[in-house]
Amino acid sequence: MRKSPRTQVDKFGRIVYDARPGGNMKQPEWIFDLDGTLYASQNDVWGRLFPRIVRYFSKKICKTEAEVSAECDVLKLKHGTHQTIVAFMREYEIEFNEYGLDFDMIVHYVYDGIFSGLCVEPRLGLETIANLPGRKWVLSNSPETFVHDMLVHLGVRDVFNGIFGARSDALYAKPEARSYDRVPVESDRVIFIDDGDINLHMPAYYGWGTVWFPEDETLELQPNQTHVHKRIHSLSELSTIIS
Ligand SMILES: [Mg+2]
Repeated sequence: MRKSPRTQVDKFGRIVYDARPGGNMKQPEWIFDLDGTLYASQNDVWGRLFPRIVRYFSKKICKTEAEVSAECDVLKLKHGTHQTIVAFMREYEIEFNEYGLDFDMIVHYVYDGIFSGLCVEPRLGLETIANLPGRKWVLSNSPETFVHDMLVHLGVRDVFNGIFGARSDALYAKPEARSYDRVPVESDRVIFIDDGDINLHMPAYYGWGTVWFPEDETLELQPNQTHVHKRIHSLSELSTIIS
């Protein structure tokens, strides 16, 4: 468990960190979610992926596509993960062992050729994050190979010091704590940016600055979202977000 400084917002709306003894407050580090945060995920991408996931598991677990589709949210809740493939693998582990299948094979089926003719819309201000001081990471629930390919597609792969996504040896995802622990941050000034509110609870617990960037422009910060320090409407706002 990380021991981190307290984090709060000052009167100028900037995130402020209270140093802990022996801590390193010199350079901020930025952790970005991918889907929905660096590009708009509500359009072409998930619309292509989801039917493939459903088709794949329908064949392998001998259920109709309608049954598999209906089962998705139930299994994610049951197994405490927001990663659809991981949820199905946990539920049908015995069957998968019998078939000798693994995560990499599923990813190959679901993601192969996904970028052909794909329309990807970058989130507003994406081009500005290259200018942020300090190291930058991506922590995504998507397969790591897809994370890499999407960042290349968006033209920002070189911006990041490292990427972390679902892998055959890391079959877990946010908001599970061990997912966040994979990122080798060294600074006490960490800023975590995600379009999913639920993924910001653990970063806030760690004392990181939390930034919410929902795809729905009409959503505003509510009083009960005490784990969220800032709600932004463009990634360009990050340049002035810490004191
Ligand atoms: Mg997301």
